[in-house]
Amino acid sequence: MEDNKLREQDFLVASISQLSISGSSSPPVVARFRSDSLLFGPESDSSDSVQFDLSNCELFKLGPFQSLCISEASEINKEKSYSRGITIQFRNEEESRAFHCAFEQWKKEVVVQGSSLPNGILSSSRSKFDDKIEASSAKMYFHYYGQLLHQQNMLQDYVRTGTYYAAVLENRVDFIDRVVVDVGAGSGILSLFAAQAGAKHVYAVEASEMADYARKLIAGNPLLSERITVIKGKVEDIELPEKADILISEPMGTLLVNERMLESYIIARDRFLIPNGKMFPTVGRIHMAPFSDEYLYIEIANKALFWQQQNYYGVNLTPLHGTAFQGYFSQPVVDAFDPRLLVAPAISHVIDFTSAKEEELYEIDIPLRFISSVGTRIHGLACWFDVLFNGSTVQRWLTTAPGAPTTHWYQLRCVLSQPIYVMPGQEITGRLHMVAHKAQSYTLYLTLSAKMWGPGAEQGGILQSSSGKLDLKEPYYRMSQPQAYPMSQEQPSQQLLQTQDLQIQSQDEEGSDLLQQAV
Ligand code: SAH
Repeated sequence: MEDNKLREQDFLVASISQLSISGSSSPPVVARFRSDSLLFGPESDSSDSVQFDLSNCELFKLGPFQSLCISEASEINKEKSYSRGITIQFRNEEESRAFHCAFEQWKKEVVVQGSSLPNGILSSSRSKFDDKIEASSAKMYFHYYGQLLHQQNMLQDYVRTGTYYAAVLENRVDFIDRVVVDVGAGSGILSLFAAQAGAKHVYAVEASEMADYARKLIAGNPLLSERITVIKGKVEDIELPEKADILISEPMGTLLVNERMLESYIIARDRFLIPNGKMFPTVGRIHMAPFSDEYLYIEIANKALFWQQQNYYGVNLTPLHGTAFQGYFSQPVVDAFDPRLLVAPAISHVIDFTSAKEEELYEIDIPLRFISSVGTRIHGLACWFDVLFNGSTVQRWLTTAPGAPTTHWYQLRCVLSQPIYVMPGQEITGRLHMVAHKAQSYTLYLTLSAKMWGPGAEQGGILQSSSGKLDLKEPYYRMSQPQAYPMSQEQPSQQLLQTQDLQIQSQDEEGSDLLQQAV
């Protein structure tokens, strides 16, 4: 991809000395990455440079500030040519690290471009990200995150940013003298938190143009900047000079999984984290409960009414009514709703980031079973998520539950075009099947069913069943709408929300000790 191309880069080095040629160049010396070469020479005059071919040279660390660059003898005439070496003295550890990172990137680029592969053989260096995600989707995605206003929007979600801050600073022991990787660093805020908590070094990996702003922001915080290196690129593609003790990231999208960034978080774990290293966040849970909301249902159904006109400037619009109706119900609704709209205790699906396999996120199939607390019309499934920071000192949850302080994720509701009727105590079963797609999101297949109630129920099968197919990529943001919920609507909502955690604990055997105090 074009935007993967590396730009020309210069590094100021304190001095260099050639091993095979006596004498050393007088400082200041610049190390220049130019197409497939690495050039060392005086800052002023690039014609007097020592040139290394990136495809056949290696870089070794001799000390925190000192490195050795060696090029192999030429392949063609090994007997007559000799290896060359050069020692490089950097001005500080930070510049040494940055140089090593750049070297890895440049070398990789040169190897990929230079490799001539026979037809039909896939280069292993092709990015896992590019294989899964449509280029047009990725382009729009990183363009979005490259804009400061969107980073500001996340920073101004004080529930989100404040919880991260508390989770990091209250768990200093997990950061002090540790190597940290910030997966999708954005503005670099989490890297700065990790450095504040005493991290030895933080690698802030960011694929969008925001990486340049993050560099600027970090440079403006000199007490922390020495211990942070920004690396521009995808976590799937970049190389790091060392392994991390802990990963920090904010990879959550709507319904936890939207944007498919959790997969990148897991890939980063497999690529960069030491065995049994920590992950902040550690665990994520998707919570689900059926809801009843007549206002919302009517609002959506009414949107399609336009297409029921038989004489719109003399045109009959009704042929498209069915399509429009289905179209509106295929949009998950994003807004903050009153938890009293929930009609049964929530159930949850747990994703343990420390052990989940990336492929497990391609398709998520959740069986649903609820017992309705009230007699009502059910209009669909309400969903939200929370994540746990399982720190050594404090376990902290970031929740997006209805009734909890609102976050920029709000909550999500899948509305069914056909509501189902239930009685108090009645069982509701179903399935939420989420299938990842190439546009960094999911297709959601939802089914809710209620068995027959009253006399004859024993013999009867399923009486009512309602299904919908929704695209998580195309939500209906409803925040600007007035929230018309009469206060008289009495439902034991708080109780419903609290019981969810007891339920989860009993359902989740593996990580149940982690899942103690949510909401
Ligand atoms: N950590 C920041 C930003 C979170 S938003 C904060 O908490 O405020 C997620 C960021 O991850 C975006 O800036 C996005 O560009 C970046 N990102 C997403 N997928 C990535 C990937 N595969 N590699 C590197 N960065 C990625």
